[in-house]
Amino acid sequence: MAIYAFIAVDRDWKITYVDTPVMPDFLRYPPSLVGMNLWEAFPDVVGTPFDECYHEAMATGNPVEIEGFYQPFQGWLHVHVQPSERGLSLYFREISERRQVEQKVEHERQRLHDLLMQMPAAIAILRGPAHIYELANLLYQRLVGKTDLIGKPGREAVPELIAQGIWDLLDTIYQTGEPLIGNEFPAQIDRNGNGTLDEGYFNFVGQPIRDEGGAIEGILIHAVEVTAQVVARQRIEDLARELDHERERFALAQEAARVGTFEWDIPNDHITWTPQMEALYGLPPGGFEGRYESWARRLHPDDFHKATTSRQAAVATGAGWREEFRVVWPDGTVRWILASGEVFQRDGQPLRMVGINLDITERKLIEENLDFLAQASKVLSSSLDYETTLAQVAQLGVPRIADWCTVDMRTESGAIRQLAVAHVDPDKVRWARELNEANPPDPDAPTGVPNVLRTGESEYYPEITDEMLVATAKNEEELALVRKVGFSSVIVAPMRVRGTAIGAITFVAAESGRRYTQADLAMAEEVASRAALAVENARLYSEAQRAIAVRDEFMSLASHELKTPVTSLKMYTQVLQRQAERRGDAGMTDRFVKMDRQIDKLTGLINDLLNVARIEGGRLEYLDESFDLNAVVREAVDAVQSTTAKHTIAIQGALDTPIWGDGERIGQVVTNLLTNAVKYSPQADRVIVRLAREDETAVISVQDFGIGVDEAQQQKIFDQFYRVSDPSEKTYPGLGLGLYIASEIVKRHGGMLRVQSAKDEGATFTVILPLIHQARDDSASS
Ligand code: ADP
Repeated sequence: MAIYAFIAVDRDWKITYVDTPVMPDFLRYPPSLVGMNLWEAFPDVVGTPFDECYHEAMATGNPVEIEGFYQPFQGWLHVHVQPSERGLSLYFREISERRQVEQKVEHERQRLHDLLMQMPAAIAILRGPAHIYELANLLYQRLVGKTDLIGKPGREAVPELIAQGIWDLLDTIYQTGEPLIGNEFPAQIDRNGNGTLDEGYFNFVGQPIRDEGGAIEGILIHAVEVTAQVVARQRIEDLARELDHERERFALAQEAARVGTFEWDIPNDHITWTPQMEALYGLPPGGFEGRYESWARRLHPDDFHKATTSRQAAVATGAGWREEFRVVWPDGTVRWILASGEVFQRDGQPLRMVGINLDITERKLIEENLDFLAQASKVLSSSLDYETTLAQVAQLGVPRIADWCTVDMRTESGAIRQLAVAHVDPDKVRWARELNEANPPDPDAPTGVPNVLRTGESEYYPEITDEMLVATAKNEEELALVRKVGFSSVIVAPMRVRGTAIGAITFVAAESGRRYTQADLAMAEEVASRAALAVENARLYSEAQRAIAVRDEFMSLASHELKTPVTSLKMYTQVLQRQAERRGDAGMTDRFVKMDRQIDKLTGLINDLLNVARIEGGRLEYLDESFDLNAVVREAVDAVQSTTAKHTIAIQGALDTPIWGDGERIGQVVTNLLTNAVKYSPQADRVIVRLAREDETAVISVQDFGIGVDEAQQQKIFDQFYRVSDPSEKTYPGLGLGLYIASEIVKRHGGMLRVQSAKDEGATFTVILPLIHQARDDSASS
């Protein structure tokens, strides 16, 4: 570029030299500049960046370059300012043209930038080997969830892409200059700029940018997000795959469920079976002979009648056919079949039957399991004699659930006792019993019942192979034996009570060829646990019975033993009382009377205990004779009246006829009711006894005005040893036996004992006895 003008000034800004080789115009302002002060010659420059620049160069002695729009010239100038000791040399160049081009380029650049910024794709321009962001358009910023990218190296600006190897990829582009094109390229991006990464898919181009010399100076990134499309496509692919699976499953299910199809040409008796249908009957493809009879003879004998009858009926009526029956395979296997068919007629004549067969053996087995479980539960709860019920359960199990079913119990000594063996064939049962006696199981055996009893865990062998038999048999003899039984599948389930096995139930499938499933195992465990519960209940019950018997025995003995000394005691008391009377010692006499009364109370208690023991043992004797109830009541009233000075006991009414029974025991009942009436009404002063005849009954009621009996207690007070546990009643002594004995006696007479009362409102106890003489037998007491 040529120098258009040259001016030199001295240190006082005086122009010392001017040369204008190209631009004479430049000097058009003052005609001659030499000798003039620079600022006077060019007043327009004062205060412009040029002014500043010249002064700076003059002051520092450093050369300065400046470009600027020079107003008087109406153009762009470049000035090189070169200082020296003498002053400054100013070299002027006109650069207006260059500036215009530059501006245009800048303008274009801006346009491109704007364009890139608005592109519907994510665009970024990275500079240099560190991938410094030079441009990142809006979509790009949104994609990476960041706005402050410009000027930052890539790894620093978007660090989450480091681990994904994306910056390494860009390094490669930068080093090799090979563009990179990725289709549905996966990347984890921090879309929302909050640190959570989000999976996205991108169609991506990384294009190297080269400078004029061809050297790589950066990379242009162009990315379009296709996540929605990819996800949609993946979903479609997944669905398609699922559909394929579904189809496969259906085919498998059909094969597993084994649906067979048949078509029967009725007039010609020709039946066509599909190979699946043949498989349902255990036949090879083409193995079916194709006639009605060939089907019928494959039916299980027990189902032959029902299956053939219903099929014939369907043909005759033209209605649909639906039946469940068993078939027997050539190898003896028994399977359950569900058949259904449609009959087609022409002119009212049966023409064809078309239908399907389905193997429903599994379903039938489950139904049988449930049925077995229900029946076993019923048997187990039917009686407390568990040895019998367990044997019945074993019996129920064959042949529906097992070919063999055994129940083994652990004895108290730790040995194993076979409680029950069941098989349809009694000879086999006998054989198994003898075998068990001859070879009792070894409690330490590592498998089978002993192991189940030890561990409390089930043993389950879905399929017993000959190798297993060989491995477990103790000797040749035993091996021959187990081979003879022909085990195919076995379950041994523990009968567990509070975590310990008290016994085990074993289900063995042998000749039936059945294979036990997990469902069978669950059923077996359930039966065993119910059996265990039944055994435990029986044991608890008999323990309780034993405890009661011991108690009754003790009561009977104790009361009997007490009676004798108390009788002598009473006799001596009476003797002493009479001696005191004779001596006229009133104080002493009174004490002996009181002592006598206490002895009577004691006797009463002992009698109660004895009576209870007798009632429990069925040993309480009753007379059966005609007696006068009025007299009996009178006697009881007199006896009780003599014990109380506070209460007056009144008798109302009378009975006009004698009744049957044991007068003394009925007297005991009335005495008891009167004693209670006095005892439980300490604040009252009267007791009323009523006697009446109502229809065919004699009614005796004893009414008091005391503390009464709460509604909730009214049934229980007739139970043995029951006493109302109310704190306010602590003061009343008693054993809780009186009402029990009274009601037992009344029951034995075919009568009833009732109470009518409310708390604090007194009580009325009523005895109702039949007038008609009833032939009594032992059941009357129950
Ligand atoms: P006890 O020896 O305790 O009197 P009973 O069998 O005669 O035994 O009576 C049982 C319970 O019935 C008594 O503890 C008492 O709470 C209640 N009872 C019996 N008779 C009466 C009555 N006349 N009034 C209120 N409570 C009564």
